Amino acid sequence: MKIRSPIVSVLGHVDHGKTTLLDFIRGSTIASKEAGGITQHIGATEIPIETIENICGNFIGKLSIQKDIPGLFFIDTPGHEAFTSLRKRGGALADLAILIVDINEGFKPQTFEALNILKMYKTPFIIAANKIDRIFGWETHKNTSFSKSFANQAQNTQLNLDKQIYELVGILHKEGFQSERFDRINDFSSQISIIPISAKSGEGIVELLAMLLGLAQEYLTEQLKIEENSPARGTVLEIKEETGLGVTIDAIIYDGILKKNDEVALMEVGDVLTTKIRSILRPLPLEEMRDSKKKFKKVNEVVAAAGIKIAAPNLDNVISGSPLRVTKDGDHVKEEILREIEDITIHTNENGVMAKADTLGSLEALVNLLQSMDIPIRTAEIGDVSKRDVINASIVQQEDPSHGVIIAFNVKVHPTAQEELDNSDIKLFSGNVIYQITEEYDVWIKEKEKEQRQKWLDAIIKPAKIRIIPKLVFRQSKPAIAGIEVLSGTIKQGLSLMNHNGNVVGSIESMQDKGDNLPSISKGQKVAMAIKDAIVGKDFEEGDNLYIDIPEKHYKILEREFKDKLSEDEFESLNEILTIKRKIDPDWGTFGLFE
Ligand code: GDP
Repeated sequence: MKIRSPIVSVLGHVDHGKTTLLDFIRGSTIASKEAGGITQHIGATEIPIETIENICGNFIGKLSIQKDIPGLFFIDTPGHEAFTSLRKRGGALADLAILIVDINEGFKPQTFEALNILKMYKTPFIIAANKIDRIFGWETHKNTSFSKSFANQAQNTQLNLDKQIYELVGILHKEGFQSERFDRINDFSSQISIIPISAKSGEGIVELLAMLLGLAQEYLTEQLKIEENSPARGTVLEIKEETGLGVTIDAIIYDGILKKNDEVALMEVGDVLTTKIRSILRPLPLEEMRDSKKKFKKVNEVVAAAGIKIAAPNLDNVISGSPLRVTKDGDHVKEEILREIEDITIHTNENGVMAKADTLGSLEALVNLLQSMDIPIRTAEIGDVSKRDVINASIVQQEDPSHGVIIAFNVKVHPTAQEELDNSDIKLFSGNVIYQITEEYDVWIKEKEKEQRQKWLDAIIKPAKIRIIPKLVFRQSKPAIAGIEVLSGTIKQGLSLMNHNGNVVGSIESMQDKGDNLPSISKGQKVAMAIKDAIVGKDFEEGDNLYIDIPEKHYKILEREFKDKLSEDEFESLNEILTIKRKIDPDWGTFGLFE
C-alpha cells in the first residue's frame, strides 16, 4: 500500500485566473529547486511535499499537518469544458478542487456551473478569491502570505476586501454552503475556506497550498491509498494528434500500475475498444526540451498518480472522459466499461427530451441535472446533434409537446440535422454552461404550459346572460334577429342559449354592431344578434333574459377551478343557471364518487 498525491483541479469562470494560478504555482516551485522542484506530467504537475513545505514554511506546522501525503497533483488543463472530463466511476477524478473567483467580479455562470458539479460529485473544495491586488487601495507585497500582506493594508482597504469576501459568503450560503475567510474559520468540517489570493503577485498562495494539504489530510487519506501492483485505472483527458505519433490520448492514472505492452480498454462512441499500448510517454524535462525537437520521453511503466500520453493503434474514436482500464482479467473489464456507459447513457422509447453532450462527464452532469429537475429523458448520448435526434424529438413532440426537444451541451449540430431543424418547429437548447441550457428550457416549458393552460381555459364555456331589448325584434325566425344587451359575462359566437325554463332556444349565429360582425362581446354591449333555430314568441319573448347553456362538464370545471376567477355578475349568473338546471335535474353538476 502506498499513498498517492491527491489530484487537484482548478475550476472557475473564464478569465478569473485559472491559468495564471497554475502558472504561478509551477513557476514558484520550479524556482525552489533546492527542495526538489516539481515533477512534470502530461496534463498535470506534481509538487512534492518537501517543495510545498519549503514554500509554506511554518504554515504547515501551524496547521499541524502530518506529512504522509507525498505532494499535490495539479491537473493543468483548466478549460471550462475540460473539467467535465474529470470524472471516474462513481465520482470526480479530482480528489480536491480549487474554485477560483475573481473577487472583484464575484460568481459568474461558469462559477455556478463548477459549484454544481462539485456538489454533484461531493468533491471537497476551497475558494480562491483571486485578484486581490485589484481591490481598491491594495498595496502589493509580492510572494508574501495573505496574512502578512493584509496586515500591511490601510484599514479602508481591509474593509473593501472583507466586503467582497462577504458577497461570496452570501452567494455560497444561497447555494447551500457555509463559508468564511480561512483565518476566521472555527470548524473546517462544516465551513468552506475562502482564501484571498493574487495569482499575479503570489499573495496568499502560501495559505492556499497549506489549506489544500490540510483538506487532503483531513478527508482523503483512505481514498489516496493505492495498490502499486494492481492493473491501472485512469481517465482520458484529451485525444490529440501528435506529429510522428499519430492519434494519442492524454490520460491521468489514479490507481495501480501501467506498463508498456499492456492491453487497455477504452470507450468509443457506443462501443468499447481494446488496444495494445505501443508507448507510454512523459514530458522531457524543460532543459532537454529546448535542445531537441522531441517533447516526450518513453518510459516502461508508471505508477499512480501519473499524467501520461499513450500511443497505440485505433485511438481515433476514443472519447474524452473515457475510463481507461488494463484488461489483465479479460472480458470483465470490457463489461465493466460497458456497464459504466450504460449507467450514464440512456435509450428508451418513452417520451422525454433528447440529451447530447461531448464527454462522458458532461453527459453525466447533464443527465443528473435533468433528473433532479424531474425532466424525463428519452435518450442521453455522447456526440453531435444528428438528424435522427431531430426526428426522434418530433416523434415525442406529437404526444408530448413540452418534451419533444433537444438539449445539447458543447456539441455541434450536424448540417443535415440543422436542415431538419429549420424545416420543423423542434426546439434546440444548446450552449456551454449546462445549467444555463436547462434554465432556458425550464423558462420555455413554463411559458408553453401557461399558453396551453390559457388555451384550455379559453375553451371552457363561462356563464353569461343577455336581455332581449323590447321593441327591437327584427325577425321572428330562421334565424331570429333581435337587439340584445349583455347583462353579464362574455358572449361568443357559436354558443347555445337557454331560457329561464332551461330549454335550449338556439345557437348564436352572428352578432352585429353598426354593420361590423363581432365574434365576441361583453357586459354592457348592445348588438343585433341572430339566433339560429329560435322562434320569437315561442322560445322567448321581448324583454326576456337568456343564459348561455353551460354543459355539465364545463360547469364542474368552473366549480372546481374557476370560481374565484369569475366576476361578481358572472358568479351570480352561474348560480341562476344552476338553479334553472337543477329544477330539471336535481343532481345536475354534482360530483360523482370518482371525480
Ligand atoms: P483563465 O481563463 O481562468 O485561465 O484566466 P487567466 O489565468 O488567463 O487570467 C485572465 C486574465 O486575468 C489575464 O490577463 C491575467 O493576467 C489576469 N489575472 C489573473 N490573475 C490575476 C491577479 O491575481 N491579478 C491581476 N491583476 N490579474 C490577474
